[in-house]
Amino acid sequence: MFLKKLELQGFKSFPEYTLIEFDRGMTAVVGPNGSGKSNVTDAIRWVLGEQSVKSLRGGKMEDVIFNGTQSRKAMNYAEVSMTLDNSDHYLDYEYDEIQITRRLYRSGDSEYQINHVNCRLKDIVGLFLDTGLGKDGYSIVGQGRVDEILSTKSEDRRRVLEEASGIVKYKVRKDEAERKLNSTEQNLTRIDDILAELKERIEPLKEQSEKAIAYHKAYESLKTLDIALLVHKIKTANEAMGGQGDYKAKLEEDLRVNEDRFMAIRNSNTELTNKKDSLEDLIEEKRQELSDIDEEKYNIGSDSKVASVQLEQLKVRFDSYEAEEKSLKEDIERLSQEYKD
Ligand code: ATP
Repeated sequence: MFLKKLELQGFKSFPEYTLIEFDRGMTAVVGPNGSGKSNVTDAIRWVLGEQSVKSLRGGKMEDVIFNGTQSRKAMNYAEVSMTLDNSDHYLDYEYDEIQITRRLYRSGDSEYQINHVNCRLKDIVGLFLDTGLGKDGYSIVGQGRVDEILSTKSEDRRRVLEEASGIVKYKVRKDEAERKLNSTEQNLTRIDDILAELKERIEPLKEQSEKAIAYHKAYESLKTLDIALLVHKIKTANEAMGGQGDYKAKLEEDLRVNEDRFMAIRNSNTELTNKKDSLEDLIEEKRQELSDIDEEKYNIGSDSKVASVQLEQLKVRFDSYEAEEKSLKEDIERLSQEYKD
């Protein structure tokens, strides 16, 4: 594995896109004081995930973004990409080339990428564990750091040596294992408590369980007895029904005959109903005729009354004519006599 190139834009004193390519062998960056040489190593440390602002020689993280000069205005973001040749697969990663990128905006938003795919800071730190390249690695030794390693606290020295010897990975795993162990121990304590509590409940539960078993047995035998009783009842009933077979056949025959009779009665009933309907029609017709005759009779009665009145009147007139004729006849006789005389 070796560092192939570093790309900077908006990082500290590099407002413009800057590409630094590293060939095999040694690359030296030469420049006057304050020209930005240390900013290059800051960029490498930053892209590897450095979170300590102090290590980056700033007051706050935003200080890594180019903050402008008299002739150039400030940038809104800083971006650094570092490309490593991984054709020997020194890093546990499937690709031959690995590019890691870190981007920070003035708003505070930040992004990490491995080969242009967004990832977490944790993924980048994990990638470089025990390679000496991590942020605590010995690959980057800043100004005055040699003295620091040799003369200050043994704790710092130890960290560098641990990274160099490749045991950090195991330390991380050990810490993780210890954490898991702790939580398992706590779980065990909790389980012990639960066990103690359960032990107290064993005796009453045992009694309850014995009672339940006894009840279950009694219930089972009751069920068997119930079934036996039912079978017995069915058997007895069947036996009692044995002599009734012929009677049943006779009843069925009677039923058939009665059904036939019922059908015949129903048919004749229909016939009679039809007859009744036509008789009712006839009665209605005759009733109408009777009503006509009554009316005619009434008319004749009225006519006959009128005729008898007329007859009476004619009789009276006839009697008066007869009397008149008689008187005239007497007059004629008297006159004839007078004439003779
Ligand atoms: P020396 O040899 O003295 O250590 P150097 O070459 O390593 O110096 P650096 O310390 O890398 O130089 O660079 C410091 C320069 O970077 C300063 O000129 C400073 O103004 C500039 N600088 C740092 N941060 C920013 C920033 N955010 N924006 C613009 N310029 C910055």
